[in-house]
Amino acid sequence: MTELSLVAALAKRLPRIGDDCAIVRHGAEDLLFTTDLLVEDVHFRRTEHPAADIGYRALARSLSDIASMGGDPRWATVALALPPWATERWVAGFYRGMLGLAARHKTEIVGGDFSRAPVLTADVMICGTVAPGEALRRNGACPGDAIYVSGALGRGRWRFVPRLTLGRQLRGLGATSCMDLSDGLSLDLHRLTTASRVAAALETIPVARGATLAEAFDRGEDYELLFTLPPAVKAPRSARRIGTIVRGRVGRVTYNGELVIPKGHDHFRSEPHP
Ligand SMILES: [Mg+2]
Repeated sequence: MTELSLVAALAKRLPRIGDDCAIVRHGAEDLLFTTDLLVEDVHFRRTEHPAADIGYRALARSLSDIASMGGDPRWATVALALPPWATERWVAGFYRGMLGLAARHKTEIVGGDFSRAPVLTADVMICGTVAPGEALRRNGACPGDAIYVSGALGRGRWRFVPRLTLGRQLRGLGATSCMDLSDGLSLDLHRLTTASRVAAALETIPVARGATLAEAFDRGEDYELLFTLPPAVKAPRSARRIGTIVRGRVGRVTYNGELVIPKGHDHFRSEPHP
């Protein structure tokens, strides 16, 4: 069992799934829904991060999904399952980190739920908005499009900055596809090219200082944006071009002619990396 196989099986019955957010037409705008779990000992160890940093990250991961669709985050709900070690003071710290980030991105926390659990589990649902029909998706990349990432890969920062400004800018530029890099370039680009029914030829990967090329491909948790632009469009200054969309076997990715195996992070195959 892999995350890919689980999603593929569900997609037969739930035809709208597959992007970073679900898109729902509602009146004069499209609503974007995303939900993201942060689980103790799967995504983090409580001894390694203060409560405020865990609250920050729980919200940032969902904000990154809104960014990848070119949307504006609006409302969030937070479901928190607490193990016996989590004190009221810890929960206050968690919310301090989360609310600081929410205010910066004009996101209102409008509800939530508390429960008990053997390990700390935080689920953040965000509803965002975007002009109708304008959300960036994974399925529009065309042969000839240039492939970009928004920053160096392989060393994702714990308190990363969700790329909301860039996402909105990419929508204005007519990006043909976009997603956030949560599970590693090798797996996420395989997903993007599969959704777009194309292949990709990579030439240069920006490797973060202190990281290896293998980590840049497979480590995950970078939360940079991966996107494609038509060849005539000038990319934003911060973007780094990594290759080109090509015709070929759907989902196939090469790096300087060598096949790239999509082995980034899969919850049901990989070791947890808290
Ligand atoms: Mg995502």
